[in-house]
Amino acid sequence: MMKDRKAVVLFSGGLDSTTVLYYAMAKGYKCKCLMFDYGQRHSKELLSAVKIANLVKVENVIIKMNLPWTNDVLTSSSEIIPVHKHLPKTIPSTYVYGRNTLFLSYALSYAQSIKACVIFIGANAVDFSNYPDCTPEFIKAYNNVLKTLKTEIVVCAPLLKLNKAQIIKLGTKLNVPYKNTWTCYNGYKKPCMKCDSCKLRIKGFKEAKLSDPAL
Ligand SMILES: [Zn+2]
Repeated sequence: MMKDRKAVVLFSGGLDSTTVLYYAMAKGYKCKCLMFDYGQRHSKELLSAVKIANLVKVENVIIKMNLPWTNDVLTSSSEIIPVHKHLPKTIPSTYVYGRNTLFLSYALSYAQSIKACVIFIGANAVDFSNYPDCTPEFIKAYNNVLKTLKTEIVVCAPLLKLNKAQIIKLGTKLNVPYKNTWTCYNGYKKPCMKCDSCKLRIKGFKEAKLSDPAL
């Protein structure tokens, strides 16, 4: 029965994954949020995630991951977050090696243990930072991994082919509290408005002809 179907939602408290959480809830899934502390330079995103999960009374688990070998700029506080004039066409320095593969592996293990049938991920390949683990090819390949493991679990990435404005319009219909979401790569008091992540968010709200309640 639909209302008993469980889903694991990879959740960061950002704009995309919050939209996905609301999407999954609207589809009738009993959601469990999986969040990761992988050494991000700030905890603002994670704090947003906990706040939103509590708001919708969804059970959440935080996985503390230790990645001592990373040298990306998101987990190294000594590096400066790059400001690109145009979105990068190659893999940017904010890419955390294997991040979504790691997240999905934890999600698979969790989903099997609680008998969930779907793993929701907010991957998006239109207005995105060119991360190789956010593409339709990657999601398809990971679903093949799940098949070889003889599980019935599928990875669902409902935002994969939507642009940022479409994601925001969808979320607005679903009453996503964008006010509580955190997108910026930096952990300042307010979003920096300059990093790639902020730029994509600004572009999305502008194209959707909506104002960003977080600003
Ligand atoms: Zn920013």
